[in-house]
Amino acid sequence: MSAQQIRVAWIQGGAAKCEILPPLPSRVFRLVLLGAPGVGKGTQAELLCERLGTCHLSTGDIFRAAKGLAEGERSPALEAALSYMKRGNLVPDQTVLDLVHERTSCLRCRSGFLLDGFPRTVAQAEAFAKIMAQEQIPLDAVLNYDLPIEKVVARLSGRRTCPKCKAVFHVTGRPPRVEGICDHCGTKLQQREDDRPEAVRVRMEVYEKSTKPLADFYRQRGLLVTIEAEGTPEEIYQRTLTALGSAGGGRQRHPSRTNAD
Ligand code: AMP
Repeated sequence: MSAQQIRVAWIQGGAAKCEILPPLPSRVFRLVLLGAPGVGKGTQAELLCERLGTCHLSTGDIFRAAKGLAEGERSPALEAALSYMKRGNLVPDQTVLDLVHERTSCLRCRSGFLLDGFPRTVAQAEAFAKIMAQEQIPLDAVLNYDLPIEKVVARLSGRRTCPKCKAVFHVTGRPPRVEGICDHCGTKLQQREDDRPEAVRVRMEVYEKSTKPLADFYRQRGLLVTIEAEGTPEEIYQRTLTALGSAGGGRQRHPSRTNAD
């Protein structure tokens, strides 16, 4: 079982531990992923974690998992976070930082980590840099997936999802066998509200305003590795590996303290 599938310590926080040890990867990467909605960051995260054995630490996944908890099981901070998320807003920095602080052991995971969705603001990046310095954990690189806005709009506005089994298609890039119908369960496909072109432009504006300054933050610190996000997922993945090689990313495995030890 990979670190990707375990992640109990990250998803639950607190005293939860990843009891099952994943196999040790031959190179340990500690990475942050950046990229606007629609650049294919999620697909790259999956490929990187699957193939490099890196642990996928997504803050969005913590919130989505919390949605499934009974009301009494959620802390007041999580409850508040979910109401921001429901409205499509960013969760306040302090709430996100409290959650990450609670999960510092995951940053020492022997599988390394791929942070996805955090940091999302410069304030979060500054606080994260402090945690990493205190814990003496080096960050290898910040992967910044880049795609022109017209292409993002085309990708997202062509996306169709199955409301039943959650399969994802694209009207031109990955069309279903029968137009508008899910290949797997035969349900009528839908377009997500926020994938409509007008909504995509708004999401891009929010991204530009709050998250893009992060690229500058990491560029100034010599950690930013920008990757052109055009082409197939495999092409982008290969480009990422090349970029990581030239960024000197990844350390030979070493007996670090871990949440799984
Ligand atoms: P994601 O899956 O990363 O797109 O996150 C889904 C939602 O969770 C976002 O729209 C935010 O409401 C919230 N969220 C996740 N990570 C963060 C973060 N680092 N800062 C603020 N809000 C976040």
